[in-house]
Amino acid sequence: MSEWQQVAEHIAARWIILAIDTLLVAFLIYRLLLLAKGTRAYQVLIGLLVFVLALYLSDVLRLETIHWLLDRMTTLGPVALVILFFPELRRVLETIGRVEFWRSSFGVSPEVEPIQRAINEVVNAVQQMARDRIGALIVWERKDRVAEGNGVELQAEASSPLLRAIFYPGSPLHDGAVILRGAQIVEAAVYFPEISQNPDIPSTMHTRHRAGIGVTETSDCIAIIVSEETGQITAAVDGTWTQNIDADHLRRLLSDLLTGEARPRILARMMGTALSGVRKSRIERKAAHRAEEKTA
Ligand code: ATP
Ligand code: MG
Repeated sequence: MSEWQQVAEHIAARWIILAIDTLLVAFLIYRLLLLAKGTRAYQVLIGLLVFVLALYLSDVLRLETIHWLLDRMTTLGPVALVILFFPELRRVLETIGRVEFWRSSFGVSPEVEPIQRAINEVVNAVQQMARDRIGALIVWERKDRVAEGNGVELQAEASSPLLRAIFYPGSPLHDGAVILRGAQIVEAAVYFPEISQNPDIPSTMHTRHRAGIGVTETSDCIAIIVSEETGQITAAVDGTWTQNIDADHLRRLLSDLLTGEARPRILARMMGTALSGVRKSRIERKAAHRAEEKTA
């Protein structure tokens, strides 16, 4: 092989490696953007990309002062990220600090019976509030902590009369959200400082719906929203939502997410379509039967 051939081959190999490298980075950025789409992290990611590009270009184009300035700013990056994502980081740390997190991580699931009872109570309350056009926002925690601590703390078993009393217009607690943890109501009149900025949310859904959808974007909770304007029930998981969901569908969804092994991200995708075809679990059928007996 001549020397020229060797050089040519070497250059070709370099180009192939460079191409693979670039493709991998592009793919990584694409996946990251997809993951963050519709959340607050999306804008931050775009900002970061522009920053990295500016840093690179200023180096290539030898804009020394700009490059020096941008280079200095990179040391501030981690601090800025901590400030920007403080609420999310706090939630993650709180979650890790809880016994339930480690228990569920090692496959020890919480008691199913009380949760199933609570599901029936919640569905019953939501159904009645929808009929009476009473606005409500119920956020059911899973592994992540959602409670803001800015509402009124409670330690009460979730029941339909209590939920309806809380959201009854004129009640001192009716404004804001109720947070459920397991079978307990832990906080009422909670105000979420962040609401969803997802542009796909219909214009008919305002702050109650946006606050509910928003909280599911940053944690694994389930938000149930009753519209006082339309009487429709909306369920949100993982930043996606199903509008005008009926009671049976809602009960199945809650059962699957709170007592099953289902991962919310997968379930969110199936919501509204496949879920209606999900077979009812034995426990759910038993619990539904009990609820029917109670109302009969
Ligand atoms: P609806 O269909 O019931 O009218 P909506 O999506 O149109 O709901 P609004 O009409 O703006 O929303 O609902 C206002 C109510 O939503 C407030 O009175 C409050 O109870 C609740 N709410 C609004 N923002 C938040 C928030 N950030 N955190 C918790 N609750 C909120
Ligand atoms: Mg409204």
